[in-house]
Amino acid sequence: MHGRGNDDVQKVALEHAPVVAVSVDLTGTCTSAEGAALELLGRTGGDLVGCPFLSLCDVRHPDVSAALRRALTGETLTAPIDEMFGLEFEAWYAPLRSPKGDITGAIVVATDVTARRAAEREVAQREAHFRALVQHSSDMTLVLTADAEVRYASPATERRLGFRTGDALLGASRWLVDSDDPGASWRTFLAVRETPGAMGRMEGRVRLTDGSWCAIEAMVTNLLDEPAIGGIVVNMRDISERKAAEQQLMWRAFHDPLTGLPNRALFLDRLAGALARSGRRGTSVAVFLLDVDRFKVINDSLGHEAGDDVLRAFTRRIVSVLRPDDALARFGDDEFTVVCEGVDVHREPMTIAERLSTALSAPFSVENREVYLSTSIGVAVADGSNGDPESMLRDADEAMYRAKERGRNRFELFDVAMRDRAIERMETEHALHRAVELRQLRVHYQPIVDLTSGAVAGAEALVRWQHPALGLLPPDRFIPLAEEMGLIVEIGEWVLQQACWQVRRWEHALGLPPGFAVNVNLSAAQLSRPRLPKGVQAAIESARIDPGRITLEITESALMEDPETAIATLRDLKALGVSLCVDDFGTGYSSLSYLKRLPIDALKVDRAFVAGIDVDQEDRAIAEAVVALAHTLGLAAIAEGVETDAQLEQVRKLGCDGAQGFQLSGPLSCAEATELLRRRPTW
Ligand code: C2E
Ligand code: CA
Ligand code: CA
Repeated sequence: MHGRGNDDVQKVALEHAPVVAVSVDLTGTCTSAEGAALELLGRTGGDLVGCPFLSLCDVRHPDVSAALRRALTGETLTAPIDEMFGLEFEAWYAPLRSPKGDITGAIVVATDVTARRAAEREVAQREAHFRALVQHSSDMTLVLTADAEVRYASPATERRLGFRTGDALLGASRWLVDSDDPGASWRTFLAVRETPGAMGRMEGRVRLTDGSWCAIEAMVTNLLDEPAIGGIVVNMRDISERKAAEQQLMWRAFHDPLTGLPNRALFLDRLAGALARSGRRGTSVAVFLLDVDRFKVINDSLGHEAGDDVLRAFTRRIVSVLRPDDALARFGDDEFTVVCEGVDVHREPMTIAERLSTALSAPFSVENREVYLSTSIGVAVADGSNGDPESMLRDADEAMYRAKERGRNRFELFDVAMRDRAIERMETEHALHRAVELRQLRVHYQPIVDLTSGAVAGAEALVRWQHPALGLLPPDRFIPLAEEMGLIVEIGEWVLQQACWQVRRWEHALGLPPGFAVNVNLSAAQLSRPRLPKGVQAAIESARIDPGRITLEITESALMEDPETAIATLRDLKALGVSLCVDDFGTGYSSLSYLKRLPIDALKVDRAFVAGIDVDQEDRAIAEAVVALAHTLGLAAIAEGVETDAQLEQVRKLGCDGAQGFQLSGPLSCAEATELLRRRPTW
């Protein structure tokens, strides 16, 4: 470039740019000064010539003299001048040389940077302020560059998440990922980056340096245009605890807290999955429904805590015989279900049931005791083409019910006949409910004969169902079902009321003989109700009869379900003035000492023994023993089911006080019974 032209450029620059160019000699004295900045300060070059350069500057800043010294020794450098004429400069120092190359002085070109520095200081101050805010808070803050490089990580972020200044986040696996949509946070970030001031929310997990995850909620704000920050700010919150609580809630919605097993809802979901897979693979799915027989007894006798222990041990036992892919769930108190996929329909389901059954029949040790459980198992098998979760479960339930019916502690495989029966039972259940409302129930009365006098001493009230389609149904066809449905309480109350009113009508119409009583059967479910004595009292009072005209029959097995409560209830009943009688005696296992404590009046010798009384030695021996026992305890002995003359003769011989049976009279309708009582026959 041409020398002259260069001078011109220098001149223009010096005249207009906010600079001052000062040359000094070897002693540091100004030899010339020019530049637009001088004019700005109202000075001329001449003002400065002859002055020591350092006197122009604030001498408290040793940098200036050091810089000048270095220039005078041949160095070219840039250094700030903190104050010169009250302004701040950035100065370029260079040595001046003679044509021979000797240093003759130096030139200092100083640029006014006062405004820029002020702005920088403000930024720094604001940044310091901002830092102070985030530095001391437990908030996790990141300032990212537009390329997602960490420019700043608050201490909390470093501590908790391990992010550090300089980390490149774009494409990093540690960055916030949403488990449902791993790319979601990046898309949010990129969208926010587009527009200054934009904000976005993200949620997900950050992988920690130890490999575990931390749940995070974050707000991203684009502050790239904000001079104090100039970045994308990510404010994060650790939501691990909230997430854990949410998960806990979710877990609880689908699991049984006691055993940690899936509950019904989750089980149905899994079963649906298994069925879908089996449909694709052409295999079968087996569902096992396990019900612990008489689990209530364990809870009642050992307490609920021990009961819980048993259930946990039970769970472990089941798990021990299952394959890893089999799914176990707990439905209710003592109901468990298992799904096995990919089974061979012909053999496997029963083998698995057998294995479960065997494993569960070994004793469980609870509080240093050995507890034996028996389990009834219902099995249903289906494949994707013919099974749906709900109906499979219903089928397994039906099979389980059958297992219970057939004596518990066994397993049954569902078959189509069961489905028909199940439907029939459902229909019957429905109809039975209606039967009570529609007054389809009837009470028949079977005479009980006093064997000493031969006269009618009473009658047993026996319920029947006048079914609109099936005709008159005996109690065996609906009482067990009513007991299961809980409907027996209502039916029992109704029969008792009918009996009380019948006594009243007979009393009015015929005048009943002294000692005559109507026997009414009570089910175990009625006996366990604390309200029973009140109900009996109400029935008697509303019919305004002598309570002595009613005898309540309770089977020996019903008494043994909860012996202590039974004694208390019987005492309350007895206090009302009614008589009490133990039904089907000889079939249960009551002890003599227990019987002694019962406030009863009579025992009914079960008809099983009466049936063989004239032919079977053993039956006769038992009947004899029952009569002897009754008499020892001061109770009457009544023989039921007397069908023949020979049987009648035998029960007389054994000393029975009363007898009941077809040989004497079958159960009679109200009208027939009234007619019989009017005739007052003797046997
Ligand atoms: P149960 O209490 O043992 O009643 C006697 C049953 O023996 C009656 O059957 C009666 O008809 C039958 N029976 C009478 N004499 C003879 C005989 O010579 N030979 C034979 N083989 N059977 C005879 P039913 O009426 O069918 O009642 C059956 C069971 O139903 C009753 O047995 C009782 O346990 C129950 N039951 C009947 N009515 C009621 C009721 O109102 N409430 C409750 N809880 N149970 C009832
Ligand atoms: Ca009875
Ligand atoms: Ca009986």
